[in-house]
Order: sequence, then C-alpha cells, then structure tokens
Amino acid sequence: EVFARIEAVDSRVGAFLSTDREGALATAKSIDDRRARGEKLGLLAGLPIAVKDVLCTKGQKTTCASKMLANFVPPYDSTVVAKLRAADAVIVGKTNMDEFAMGGSTENSALGKTANPWDLSRVPGGSSGGAAACLAASMVPLSIGTDTGGSIRQPAALCGVTGLKPTYGRVSRYGLVAFASSLDQVGPMAWTAADNALLLEAIAGHDPLDSTSTDIPVPAYSQSVDKPLAGLKLGLVREHFGEGLSSEIDSAIREAMRVYESLGAKVEEVSLLHAKYGIAVYYIIAPCEASSNLARYDGVHYGYRTDEKTMLAELAEEREKLEKSGDRAAIAALDSPLVRLYRKTRAEGFGSEVKRRIMLGTYALSAGYYDAYYLKALKVRRLIRGDYDAAFAKVDFIVGPTTPNPAFKLAEKTGDPLSMYLEDLYTVTANLAGIGGMSVPCGLTSSGLPIGLQIQCRPFDEERLLQAAAMYQ
Ligand code: GLN
Repeated sequence: EVFARIEAVDSRVGAFLSTDREGALATAKSIDDRRARGEKLGLLAGLPIAVKDVLCTKGQKTTCASKMLANFVPPYDSTVVAKLRAADAVIVGKTNMDEFAMGGSTENSALGKTANPWDLSRVPGGSSGGAAACLAASMVPLSIGTDTGGSIRQPAALCGVTGLKPTYGRVSRYGLVAFASSLDQVGPMAWTAADNALLLEAIAGHDPLDSTSTDIPVPAYSQSVDKPLAGLKLGLVREHFGEGLSSEIDSAIREAMRVYESLGAKVEEVSLLHAKYGIAVYYIIAPCEASSNLARYDGVHYGYRTDEKTMLAELAEEREKLEKSGDRAAIAALDSPLVRLYRKTRAEGFGSEVKRRIMLGTYALSAGYYDAYYLKALKVRRLIRGDYDAAFAKVDFIVGPTTPNPAFKLAEKTGDPLSMYLEDLYTVTANLAGIGGMSVPCGLTSSGLPIGLQIQCRPFDEERLLQAAAMYQ
C-alpha cells in the first residue's frame, strides 16, 4: 500500500530521492514470519518509515541531495538507521532535502524538487522538506529528519505535521553527514506527538560512537505520552510577537494558548532578550563549522571527482600558453594538478548555497576576523542559553510560533538568501542553546495553509514535552 501510494502521488510531490521496494518488502516479510513464529518484535515492528538522505544507510545511496555525493554508497549504517532496523521498522526510502541540509525550502537540492502537498505551488520547508512532505501526503506514517537550525520544526510547521528536535546529545549523530556538528540533531517526524514519542524512544540513547551523545536513560516516551500534565506553566516569548510575524499565525498561537488555559495551564510572558541576535549568531557559527566539515570533499577520498583527463589537458594548455608568453610569475602561480583537482571538483560538485556557506565560514574563521566574528558569536550564543535558563526557572515550556510565515511560493525566496534565513528566526535559538523543541500543527490560515506552534523544553525534558504536545492535540 505504501509503494502504491508513493507511485500515485510522488511524481507530483517529489518527497523521495530513492525508494527500496525490494528491501522493504523482504524486511516486512521476515517480520511477518517472525511474528507467525511468536517471536518478540521491536518497538516499530512493521511500521514503514522514510529517512532523510543525510543519514548513512549501508549499501544504499546517501546523497545529501548533492552532486558531490550523488553516487555515494556508505559501507555502514548510521546509529539511528541501525536502531530503526533493530526496532523492526521498514525503511522504504530516502527523502529529499536542501543540499547538505543547508536551506529552509528544499530548493537547494541538486537532485530534485519537492512541493508542499497542501499547495503544490509552495515549498514544503526545509531542509527536511521531503521527510515532512511524505507524511503530509500520507505516503508513510513516520520519518526521520535532522535539525541544525530548524530543519525538523520548520518543514513540520509548513506541512501540517509534528516534528521534534531533541536536546543536543539525546540522539546519536554517528553516520549523520555533518553540517554544523555543535548544532546538528536527528529527530522524529510524524502525524502526532504520540507517534513522535514512539519513534524517539526507538532512536534515542547513548552511543559510544558519538562522544557528544549523553548517557542519560531513555524514558518510555510511548507509555507516558497520553498522560496529561497538571499545573503546566507556559511562557509565551515576548520577542516572537512583533514585526515580521504574520497576523494569522499570531492569532492562531493566541488561540492555542486559550486551549491550553482551558486544560488548566497558566500562560505568562517570558523574555528572550538576545533572541534577536539568533540569526546573526547562527549564520556565523553554522557556516564556520560547515566550512571545516565540508573540507573532506576533496575529490580524492570519496564522492564526486572532476574529469581528470579534461582537467590535466586544460592545465597543460594553460601552461603552454604561459610558456609562450614567458610570464614566469604566472607559471609559478599555476595550480599543481592536485590543487586543480580540488578546485574543480568543489566548483562542480557543490551548489551555490553550499559555496556561500563555505566562503562565509572560511572568511569568519580566518586570522584577523576570528575574534570579531566567530568568538563574538560564541559569546552571544552563551547569552542566548542564559536567557533560556532564566526563562525555564519560571515556566515549564517556552511557546510561540514555529515560523513567521506559512509556506511560501516555490522560487519566491531563492534569489534573496537573507529573506530565506529570516524564516529561521524562531527556531535557531533552540539549537544554539542545545535545548529540545517541537512543532505541533495549530490550525490553518484563511487560504488553507498549515500553521505550527513551537514548544521548547529544558534539556532532556522530552518526555514532558511530548506529553504537553499530546494534550493539545
Ligand atoms: N534553515 C537553516 C539553514 O539554512 C536550518 C537548516 C537545518 O536545520 N539543517 O541553515
């Protein structure tokens, strides 16, 4: 049924980069056989799931939606994928995304377009756009996304589904192709908070292969999610209700607060004073880390390599010309073959947004600018975390809109990176502070586009976060 549905709708949605019908059916069959033999099955037994194409899957392409990795087949499973298999989930395919998870609309994919199932002329959000769209179009009930600055929560909001970015360290990053290592987290996406609870329970936990994963026991999220919380205190972020917020989203969030109040919650205002610097800080730190992480794509170790014959012929031709002109300085400055291989491989293999980030990051990390940009950004990052600590001393959860606007038109923002970056205004701060956050559907605009309510929690408070989300749903 899953593959029939994908066949029927995915030519219009474009959520998947690859599917594995044979492998999925074989897994499903073996689960059925084990069930028939009365064997104990895993938490996700038989559930079809889609995985963002940034997580390594053994023997199956993992492209990061980049020309650079278009033919990369990992020799191992990421820990999250291994845990899905161990829980008897059925992985049906890999989903589209912004190249290397850099973007907020999935339009930076080098390998295909994804449309928002609610309105095919609009973006699904990003970078986990495919993972959100395959849920919204009812192709699968569960998917895995990753969130560095909002990439689970923002597409969940734009596609009317539920997604959770866990606390940094809750889920292993082993085998997740790195974008910004101090911000990246893998997380669940599904229709409901209860389904998120089940999936998070399966993928969370300490992993000796990821030194930043934390050794804190994983609660049985799926057991507690349906128990409502009493005496809940919610803090509405004052700074998230100003200029730039769509008025329809503003009223939907306020309406959601009335629902919570009717369930016995108390709602008060809290302040995140430094939240306004979130975008500036994020767009220094994330590109700095990306420029370092992406240095590995050198055309030598793995991934795309420029055509060597053409490259060497061009180099020889340039040298010949220079020798004729007798320009010694230019001859001395000519690339070595290895440097030219690196240059051309990267020029051809990376898309423009990835190059923009590498250049921004390299610039901000260079001698003379390091203190002014990178170090300054780290200091403000600490202040942002401090704001959260102060707010969490007063309230249980911090709430507000997930995004300033509903899904925008395809191509509307591709020519204006800054306006694309501003869509991340409310989500990047959770990654900078390392805390958990969720986006939960909270109604539709007058033109029928989904709106997301963001709920953020104290570090490692996902169990109650899921309960708080479930009681609203
Ligand atoms: N939209 C943000 C960016 O472009 C967040 C991406 C993400 O979380 N992977 O970097």
